[in-house]
Amino acid sequence: MSERLVVVGGDATGMSAASQARRRRDADDLEIVAFERGRHVSYSACGIPYWIGGATDGPDALIARTAKEHRARGIDVRLGSEVTTVDADAGRVLVRGPEGREEWTGYDHLVLATGAVPIRPPIPGIDARGVHGVQTLDDGEAVLRGLDGEGIRRAVVVGGGYIGVEMAEAMLRHGLDVTLVDRNPQPMNTLDPDMGRLVRTALEGLGVSVVSGAAVREVLTDREGRARAVATDGGEYPADIVVLGLGVRPATALARAAGLPLGEHGGLLTDRAMRVRGTERIWAGGDCVEVLNLVSGTFKHVPLGTHANKHGRIIGTNIGGGYATFPGVVGTAVSKVCEVEIARTGLKESQACAAGLDFVTAVIESTGRAGYYPDADPMTVKMLAERGTGRLLGVQIVGGQGAAKRVDVGAVALTAGLTVAAMVDLDLGYAPPFSPVWDPVLVAARKAADAVAADVRGR
Ligand SMILES: Cc1cc2nc3c(=O)[nH]c(=O)nc-3n(C[C@H](O)[C@H](O)[C@H](O)COP(=O)(O)OP(=O)(O)OC[C@H]3O[C@@H](n4cnc5c(N)ncnc54)[C@H](O)[C@@H]3O)c2cc1C
Repeated sequence: MSERLVVVGGDATGMSAASQARRRRDADDLEIVAFERGRHVSYSACGIPYWIGGATDGPDALIARTAKEHRARGIDVRLGSEVTTVDADAGRVLVRGPEGREEWTGYDHLVLATGAVPIRPPIPGIDARGVHGVQTLDDGEAVLRGLDGEGIRRAVVVGGGYIGVEMAEAMLRHGLDVTLVDRNPQPMNTLDPDMGRLVRTALEGLGVSVVSGAAVREVLTDREGRARAVATDGGEYPADIVVLGLGVRPATALARAAGLPLGEHGGLLTDRAMRVRGTERIWAGGDCVEVLNLVSGTFKHVPLGTHANKHGRIIGTNIGGGYATFPGVVGTAVSKVCEVEIARTGLKESQACAAGLDFVTAVIESTGRAGYYPDADPMTVKMLAERGTGRLLGVQIVGGQGAAKRVDVGAVALTAGLTVAAMVDLDLGYAPPFSPVWDPVLVAARKAADAVAADVRGR
C-alpha cells in the first residue's frame, strides 16, 4: 500500500526533501504533498539583497523551481496552505487552505521545514508603513515599491549582521544616504570586534554612517503613519525607508504545540538522520532545527541555506529508503558589502572561551594577488589555534576580491582537525593573478603556528 509524505514548508529544506524522496520512490509507492502558506516554493531568500540592489533579476529569477514544475515531477504542492496543528499521536496535520477551510491530512512521514521567523522587536512604530523585513520575495517586492516612492533619499538599516550589511549595499546602489544602526560594538558580530572594525571602516569608506552600540527604541512616524526616523537612546536618525535585518529565530510554534523536543535556542532537536528525537516518522531540517557545531561540541541555531539544502537531501534520502546523516557544521559563512568580502569559519574568541577552549591568535595583512599584479587588494586574516595542541579553531577574513572563499580552506582544515602547523604545508594553488606566492591563509597559519610554539616554550 502506498505511503504518504507530508511536507510543511515549501522552500529549501522542504522541497529538497520532497524532490529527493520522489527521485527514490515513485508515485505508486509514495504520495508527496507539500503545504506552503506563501505564494512561492523553492525560492532563494539569499538573492533578495542582490535583487533589491539591482545586481540580479528577480523575483522569478530567484525561483529555482515553480510549484507547477514540482507538480509535473509528481509532488502535490499546495500554495496558500498553512499547517496549523500537528497531531503526532494520530499522524495527521490540520491545514487551512487558501479559502480558509480547515481539513485534516494523514501522513506516514512528516517533514517539518518551517524555516525561521525574522526578529521584530515589539517597539512603537515597528509595523509602520515604510518599515520592511527582507525574508520573502513579497518582502523584496515591497522594498522595491517603497524605493519607488517620492522623495526617498535616506535609508536606515537596523541590524549589522550579514543581511544588514548586504542591505546597506543595496540601499547605496539606489543612491540613498544610508545609516546602519546596530546594538553591537561593531558590525558583523559573527566576527571578533577587531575584525568587525575592518567592516565598519569599509562601510564608512563607502559613505555609510555606522551607529554602533545603539539599540533601536522606536520607529518615529509622521502624521500619515509613515516611518520618518529611527530612535535609539543616543539619537534620532531620519529615514524615508527602514530595513530590518535583526536576525531570525527558529519557526517552531507548531512543533512546540505538538510537544516535540526543542533545544535551548528554540530549534527542533533531531538525530543525525534528521529525524526529530523521540519520534519514528517526523523529520525536520533547515532553519527550524539546531545543529551540532563540530568545533565547540555544542548545539546552535545556524540558519543558513547551505545547511537547509543538505538537510532536505538527507531527509529525502532516508524517507526514500536510503541512508544519509548530517555530521554537523563548523560555522562557515561568507558575505560582502560592495567590494569588501567578509568570511568566518570555526569559533571566534568569545565562542572559544564559552566552549572552555584556550587559544592563541594570529592576525596578518596580505593581498589577494601577487603584490605587483593589478588590483592586488588588501586582505586581513585572523586565525585562532588551540593552546598546546595547535589545532585550528577558527578563521576570519576581511578583504578584497578572493577573500571570502579562501575561508573554505579553513573549513576543510577544521573538518579534518588539522593543526595550524599542518596547514602551513597545504599544497594550495599559486599564480600571481590568484594569490601571492605565500597565500594569505598560509601566512596566517605560519604566524599562528609560531604563536603556538612560543606559547609552549613560554610555559
Ligand atoms: C535576505 C536573506 C539573505 C540570505 N542569504 C544567505 C546566504 O547568502 N547564504 C546562506 O547560506 N543563507 C542565506 N540566507 C538564509 C537562507 O535563506 C535560509 O537558511 C534558508 O532559506 C532556510 O531554508 P528553510 O527551508 O529551512 O526555511 P525557509 O526558507 O524559511 O522556508 C520555510 C517555508 O515554510 C513556510 N511555512 C512556515 N510555516 C508554515 C506552515 N505552518 N504551513 C505552511 N508553510 C509554512 C514558509 O512560508 C517558508 O516558505 C538568507 C536569508 C535571507 C532572509
